[in-house]
Amino acid sequence: MDFSPRYSRQVIVDGFGPEGQEALARGRVMIVGMGGLGNPAAQYLAAAGAGTIGIMDNDVVSISNFNRQVLYQPDDLNQVKVTIVQERLARFNPEVEIIAFKQRLNEDSSDIFGEYDIVLDCLDNLPDRLLLNQICLAAKTPLVHGGAIRFYGQLTTIIPFKGPCLRCFSPGSAFFCDCERVGVLGPIPGVIGVLQAMEAVKYLSGAGEVLVGRLLVFDGLQGTVNEVRVERNPKCPACGSPN
Ligand SMILES: [Zn+2]
Repeated sequence: MDFSPRYSRQVIVDGFGPEGQEALARGRVMIVGMGGLGNPAAQYLAAAGAGTIGIMDNDVVSISNFNRQVLYQPDDLNQVKVTIVQERLARFNPEVEIIAFKQRLNEDSSDIFGEYDIVLDCLDNLPDRLLLNQICLAAKTPLVHGGAIRFYGQLTTIIPFKGPCLRCFSPGSAFFCDCERVGVLGPIPGVIGVLQAMEAVKYLSGAGEVLVGRLLVFDGLQGTVNEVRVERNPKCPACGSPN
């Protein structure tokens, strides 16, 4: 397979190489949420050459998005986010197919998720995250969770029924609350969204180890990264029943 010179710095990386690039080109990634996490995740996946990128969001651009949602310009105010991202990324890398879903996540959208290799949770509220967790368990589609509030971010990868799901992480913790209420420093979702893209690249190419059973916690204020190990809960209401 011949690759565009735009990927030349990746193709020469030992442990990734042409095979990794080819796997990435065949890959299908769905990103749910086109905010502070979804923007960098989509941008870096398009840059890296992920073959198909689905983007799902129902929102329009508002002025309070600009501290972290770097794909939008002042002209885009009140415009539909997924339409802007689709148009912008398709122009940036015409080799990548961007499919826009202008809708809020709901149970009826579950069919869509079976058509993707991996899903990124770039949402901003716990009920939607738990619904997405449920949908990905049902579709047996891997899910990369990312969250960012205040100075902190977190990230984990869920391989359905192989490791813990989002519910196994007892998501009553402060980390799962939303940034509309408590705020977030712009670079934090930038860091986490890019790491979510990296998890998808690893999963699709088979390079390295994805974060299964490991919650990576980034403290932007102290400049530290910690890892919390979590086992799958056999009594988990979402993934605990025998399958
Ligand atoms: Zn579970």
